[in-house]
Amino acid sequence: MSRNTILTVVGARPQFIKAAAVSRAIRASDDFCEILIHTGQHFDAMMSDIFFRELDIPPPREHFAIHGGSHGLMTGRMLEAVESAIVKHRPDWVMVYGDTNSTLAGGLAAAKLKVPVIHVEAGLRSFNRGMPEEINRVLVDHISTLLLSPTHAGVANLAAEGVVRGVFHVGDVMHDAMLHAMGRARTESQILSRLGIEASAFVLATVHRAENTDDPARLTAIIEVLKAEAHERAVLLPLHPRTRQAIAAAGLSVEPIRVIEPVGYLDMARLLDGCAMVMTDSGGLQKEAYFARRPCVTLRDETEWVETVSHGWNRLWTQPAWATPRTEITEYGAGDASARVLDAIRGAQLHQIRER
Ligand code: UDP
Repeated sequence: MSRNTILTVVGARPQFIKAAAVSRAIRASDDFCEILIHTGQHFDAMMSDIFFRELDIPPPREHFAIHGGSHGLMTGRMLEAVESAIVKHRPDWVMVYGDTNSTLAGGLAAAKLKVPVIHVEAGLRSFNRGMPEEINRVLVDHISTLLLSPTHAGVANLAAEGVVRGVFHVGDVMHDAMLHAMGRARTESQILSRLGIEASAFVLATVHRAENTDDPARLTAIIEVLKAEAHERAVLLPLHPRTRQAIAAAGLSVEPIRVIEPVGYLDMARLLDGCAMVMTDSGGLQKEAYFARRPCVTLRDETEWVETVSHGWNRLWTQPAWATPRTEITEYGAGDASARVLDAIRGAQLHQIRER
């Protein structure tokens, strides 16, 4: 049987993790092959290389080393580079993940070349157009052929925008990735002993959203919340490079928060497993807190992952108290989201053949 070629565009940390899960399913299949290309949006050892190594992601076929500069500059350069890659490799599908500039550039380049786009993590909305991620999500959803949503809310959001064709709920590929990593992390990660921290005695925090780092007043407020928590129990903050720069530029003191370099995924899984609570503005980490069954305070004024809140595991920092009893969230799937991604693509291929 000839295999259908999926050209996957990744560029940022959360995309490596999502792509690792789907790429594993592609390699196990006998009807798909993958060409992975890396825009270079995240590029250094701890933001990129470690994920390829730890998660057994095949080395990217092409790496464009595009990072820095304004959103327009970065996205424009990526658009040009991804377009050349699509022309060169002539894939059957282009697959993009999430909501970054790499997602937008990959989706737009493919759609303009009439190559069908698969958007994994379709339909998520914060309803805050001030976020660059929200612009990317909305635009990519409206040019995608297959819109694969992790949640029922995502499917409903798309329907509210008139997008119903090619929409499927498949569950969350990040759940697949975490299930795969958690067991390994317990035996392979030494991070708790390396840092000398006790399990269950610390809060795991991350901050990286532009809405939080680009506004000094808001960044100060978030650091103050973490400092207040750190007076009660240890707060561990693996710090994103953008936030490190913003803290330095604003001249903020972070004491007594324990700041460390970003960590790899296995260490992150171990920290999630070992922490008492998560405080974050990360989309991925809000769910991973749930996967580890840890409560999460989201350092944002809204969240796309509304089911984490309605099931009692997550609350926005603007909500003063836990309001809802904790119940299981089934819609993320049982570690089978990547398989369902491939099934959705197979279904679409059959459908196209039938239409012809
Ligand atoms: N992550 C990691 N090391 C870190 C911080 C985050 O491996 O030091 C992982 C985290 O577990 C999650 C993903 O990176 O899987 C989330 O990425 P990020 O917060 O950058 O983006 P978002 O999810 O907000 O799009």
